[in-house]
Amino acid sequence: MKERQPKLATETVWAGEEKYRVHGASQVPVVHSVAYTYDDLDYWYEVAVGQAEGHIYGRNTNPTVSSFEDKVKELEGAEAATSFSTGMAAISNTLLTFLRPGDRVVSIKDTYGGTNKIFSEFLPRLNIDITLCETGDHEHMIEEIEKGCSIVYLETPTNPTVKITDIERIADVAKNHNALVIVDNTFATPILQNPLQLGADLVLHSATKFLGGHADALGGVLVGSKALVEEVYHYREINGATLDPMAAYLLIRGMKTLHLRVYKQTENATKLAEYLKKHPMVENVFYPGLKDHPNHDIAKQQMRGFGGMFSFSLVGGMDAVKVMLPKLKYANRAANLGAVETTVGPARTTSHVESTPEERKALGIPDGLIRYSAGIEDFEDLKEDLEMALKALTVKQ
Ligand SMILES: *Cc1c(COP(=O)(O)O)cnc(C)c1O
Repeated sequence: MKERQPKLATETVWAGEEKYRVHGASQVPVVHSVAYTYDDLDYWYEVAVGQAEGHIYGRNTNPTVSSFEDKVKELEGAEAATSFSTGMAAISNTLLTFLRPGDRVVSIKDTYGGTNKIFSEFLPRLNIDITLCETGDHEHMIEEIEKGCSIVYLETPTNPTVKITDIERIADVAKNHNALVIVDNTFATPILQNPLQLGADLVLHSATKFLGGHADALGGVLVGSKALVEEVYHYREINGATLDPMAAYLLIRGMKTLHLRVYKQTENATKLAEYLKKHPMVENVFYPGLKDHPNHDIAKQQMRGFGGMFSFSLVGGMDAVKVMLPKLKYANRAANLGAVETTVGPARTTSHVESTPEERKALGIPDGLIRYSAGIEDFEDLKEDLEMALKALTVKQ
């Protein structure tokens, strides 16, 4: 594993805030104002055209939102950041900023369900060619990139089967063919993985998940070089998928504990995945931290920890899932992930609700696959909870 950067724990608490804490406030204030007043019309003009620092109108920029962007920028070690109303807005706005009719995208089959829909439904309408490779088949992906493409889009670990792609290896090839490399870093968070340092050009997050961590605010964020991020910012400011200041505030507050949460969630996920792997009613466990995970070594190389997400399937498939999941006491059966509370759900109603049963099958997602987002609860409590729920299953069958 790469050496852990002790700075991150401090940065989650302090980064990106100082400049915004007006009136000596110890916390970043929520600025709800839609517009900003200027008596000096020349100065107003300078701010409006970007020659002076300041804010004009809420669709473009807002101080609370800027503070959130600065915090993520620091954590990812990036030059610039911009934000969005949701993670999907970050993904769609970024893709639509750079793609033109006739362009080609190379990606993986296992992207988040919404992203997969953009690839299968919306981009082909614009005459954009999409090639989706088997996730983890690096040789095939490299072959496709070498045929020429403008964007290589990665997500690692993936949702919900936690497959791993070697970012450095793919980015090297993409660079030689002048393709932009975009990585969805939602599952790893900047605490465990920094794709920019591995050669990616742009990194995005659904801030709704781990960054916020409390399942009470939607948001998306993109980081990268100033030149690239400014292009996407321009697209977003005109098209309007702006992050709300109150959501930005909740995300900033949530991020103060990001480092603590992610390591606790990783610890819980690691122990629970190991426990479930030995359980007779459990058919399969997918977690990059398990030694038999097909790309365990790559994960170990490019991540500082394996993350709080895993998935598993039960002997007895979906019928068993319907018996077992409702029994859990310490789990929200819900569509989100990355929250302080443990959150569970079948892939067919969570990450891949947008996909048809045939599409899920083609993606290798069994109908009975359970996505488990480990919370920050006590490990023994979570283990006993699973044990109790699985016991109900054994009695029933
Ligand atoms: C949830 C999620 C998204 C979409 O984010 P929203 O904030 O729900 O729009 C994108 N990528 C991954 C990996 C996700 O888990």
